[in-house]
Amino acid sequence: MAPCDVPVGVITGDDVLKLLTHARENKYAIPAFNCTSSSTCNAAMQAAKDNNCPVILQFSNGGGAFLAGKSVKDPNAAAAGSVAGALHVRAVAKYYGIPVILHTDHCAKKLLPWMDAMLDADEAYFAQYGEPLFSSHMLDLSEEPDEENIAICKKYFERMAKMKIWMEMEIGITGGEEDGVNNEDVDPEKLYTSPEQVYAVYKELSTIGPMFSIAAAFGNVHGVYKPGNVTLQPARLGKHQEYTKEQISSSDDKPIYLVMHGGSGSTDEEIATAVSCGVIKMNVDTDTQWAYWDGLRKFEAENRDFLQGQIGNPSGPDKPNKKYYDPRVWIRKAEEGMIARCSISMDKLLCKGTFPAKIPEAGSVPMWDFSPSSKGPMAAVKDIGGQVGGMISGFMAHK
Ligand SMILES: [Zn+2]
Repeated sequence: MAPCDVPVGVITGDDVLKLLTHARENKYAIPAFNCTSSSTCNAAMQAAKDNNCPVILQFSNGGGAFLAGKSVKDPNAAAAGSVAGALHVRAVAKYYGIPVILHTDHCAKKLLPWMDAMLDADEAYFAQYGEPLFSSHMLDLSEEPDEENIAICKKYFERMAKMKIWMEMEIGITGGEEDGVNNEDVDPEKLYTSPEQVYAVYKELSTIGPMFSIAAAFGNVHGVYKPGNVTLQPARLGKHQEYTKEQISSSDDKPIYLVMHGGSGSTDEEIATAVSCGVIKMNVDTDTQWAYWDGLRKFEAENRDFLQGQIGNPSGPDKPNKKYYDPRVWIRKAEEGMIARCSISMDKLLCKGTFPAKIPEAGSVPMWDFSPSSKGPMAAVKDIGGQVGGMISGFMAHK
C-alpha cells in the first residue's frame, strides 16, 4: 500500500476526504485520542510519529473547558479552550511529520452553543487562511428522535460543507456514561442501530456532500462498563454497508464511512471486524486516561523518597529533589505512559506504518504562517496594537 498523498501537519478539506477514503479502501482505521492539554496533544502526536501513521486529536466539551481553565465560568469557555487547543496543535503539528486531523467530540443538543461558537471560529479562520480552524466536528443528537437528529445534523452539515469541514454524527444508543450522558439503563435492543436508520442518515446527508461519517451503535459502550446481556456485534456494520449499497445501486462495497465509539475493552478480533466493515476512526479515551495516570503512578512509586520535600532524600538530608518534582519530569512520565497506549491502538487498528513520518529538515518550515488582514476579528486586535504603539511612542517622547 502506498502512503496517502496528503501533507503533514493539520489537514483539512479535500485532504481529509482523501485520507479517510485511503483508510477505508486499505482497511485501516485512524485512532482518535481525546486530549485535554498541550501535554496529551503532544503525546498523541509523538505516538503517531513513532508509529509512522496519521492521527486524530479530539477535544470534548469538557476537555475544551479544562483547556480554558477550571475557574473560567464564561459560557464560551469550552469553545475558547477548544480553539486554544487547536491553535497549539496547529503551531507544532508539522514538526511531527505526520498528518493530523483536528476534531471535536460528542456535541449533544444542549451543547449546540459550543458548536455554534466553534463554527464562528472556523469561519473567521477560513476568511483569513482559506481553510477552517478544525478539520472536523461531531454532532451527537442520538438522544433525540431520529427525524430531529437527522434534521439538525443536516442544518449544521450545510454550514460545515461550505468550508469543507468533515462531520461525524451518531445514531442509535451507545451504552455507558460519558460527559454527563448516562445510558446505563436503556433497553438492550436499542443498543443496535438498524441498517434502515443508517441509510436514512446517508440519504439526507449525501445530498449536501460526501464528507460525513456515521457512528452507529452495535452493542458498544462508552467507558469501561459492561451491560449484562449486550454483546458487541461489529459484523452488523457490514449489514449497514450492504443495505446502503443496495439502496443507492452503488458499485462500492463500502459506501459509508463508519466510526467506532466505546471501543475500550474490545478484543482485537472485534476491532479487526469493525475495521474490515468500513470503520475509519475509533475513539480512544478511557484507556489513554488510565495510561497517562499509570505512567505518573509508576514514577511516583519508584521515586517516592525523592518526592517528599524540596530538599532531603535517601542520598542525604541536604540533597535537592528538583529533578524529580519539576513538572517536566513527572508529566513526561505520564506522557510516556500515554504514548505506549496510543501505540497499541495504532497497531490494533492496522494504522501503524501507513504513513512514514516526514520530519521537516531543520529550518525548512516557517515557524508561523500568520497573514493578518484587516478583515474579521483581527481588525480589533490591530486597533489595540495601534493604541499600545501610540502609548509607547508617547512614553518615549515624554522621556
Ligand atoms: Zn458516541
